[in-house]
Amino acid sequence: MDTDDEYQKENDYIESEFPNAKFCICIPMCDLDNVISNEKTIIIRRNYYCYCYDMNDKKRDHYVFTHDNMTYRNVIHEMIRQDISFDCNHQFLEAIEPTHKDNHTQFQFSMGS
Ligand SMILES: [Zn+2]
Repeated sequence: MDTDDEYQKENDYIESEFPNAKFCICIPMCDLDNVISNEKTIIIRRNYYCYCYDMNDKKRDHYVFTHDNMTYRNVIHEMIRQDISFDCNHQFLEAIEPTHKDNHTQFQFSMGS
């Protein structure tokens, strides 16, 4: 199988798993069941530090996620349930990262264009 087929397979899978996402999911299929945190409740921050918002470093939104199994898959399903969208050019969810190393409750979306 060549890389185009692999890419298509990933795309098809993401589309069938998350048909109602209002953002693009760039988390590799094989990472979807990686556990982001062992906590039952986490907060994920959306930053506006991008050129679409003139590198605004003050504006932030916070979303609360509660789940017994805090994997990428479950968090993305919850993002869709909460109707989260990113109204700027940065539509590609590339990662969900701790805001500080060793912080297991505070995260931020890492968005690409
Ligand atoms: Zn942006």
